[in-house]
Amino acid sequence: MQRLTRKLKAQGVQFGFVPTMGYLHAGHISLVKRARQLVGKTGQVVVSIYVNPTQFAPTEDLSKYPRDLAQDKQMCRDAGVDILFVPSDTEMYPAEFSTYVVEEKLSRRMEGASRPTHFRGVTSVVAKLFNIVLPDVSVFGAKDFQQAAVIQRMVRDLHFPVKVVVAPTHRERDGLAMSSRNKYLNPMQRDQATVLWLAMELARKQVKSRSVAVERLRSEISKLIATQSEARLDYVEFFDRETLEPVEMVKRGTQMALAVFVGKTRLIDNGTL
Ligand code: AMP
Repeated sequence: MQRLTRKLKAQGVQFGFVPTMGYLHAGHISLVKRARQLVGKTGQVVVSIYVNPTQFAPTEDLSKYPRDLAQDKQMCRDAGVDILFVPSDTEMYPAEFSTYVVEEKLSRRMEGASRPTHFRGVTSVVAKLFNIVLPDVSVFGAKDFQQAAVIQRMVRDLHFPVKVVVAPTHRERDGLAMSSRNKYLNPMQRDQATVLWLAMELARKQVKSRSVAVERLRSEISKLIATQSEARLDYVEFFDRETLEPVEMVKRGTQMALAVFVGKTRLIDNGTL
């Protein structure tokens, strides 16, 4: 992969990169389209598929994470992806692997608090993928807003010569953010999973023309989530888009993030209010 990129880059070809864990859906493909726009017809769009073990805790869904490489390949072909990079575990983590990349500030709260080893795995694997693929630009989804912020910080702090672009969240018709994990939901859970979107809509409505105290909004959202028998709130946070610092008063432009268990499936969503 590295040899190929270096050869083409010497000829002036731009590389756009979309890292994924596969089981691709229209949300991933929207990032591919963005990457194509950024590098143009003469550029190369690379998608990686790698279910990265170091970002899963031992209790999480690594072994049952959905996979369908044949379908992913077809979707990539249809979307005009130039290179599909699918490394193996032994290539990515050879024996005696012992070097990790850790972001120490933006990764502490929210996903970092609920999943303490998660971002260490994410930053490490993305750093590795950047070094392998050598992209000029890489596209990440706003659905994982904190992840995108952590990657942007890593790129800045460690001088990766990569431009990070964050693309909007692609949603189902009823507002549910597309996610590979939606596959785990049974029909009733799928129905109830729209509560993440409804929570965001509730917050948007509340702060449309005034600011609202965090505790009040959090309690209203907790109540809304509790109306769904399969749903259990993990966290809902309101914070500054740039610093990720929590705010006390929520207003238009505040960023909201929430994580909700629907049955055993943990879903997250993000949005600007
Ligand atoms: P994943 O395969 O879930 O690790 O996601 C790979 C990339 O796709 C990440 O940058 C995600 O933020 C992004 N992504 C996942 N779901 C969506 C979506 N519904 N809309 C836009 N981007 C998404």
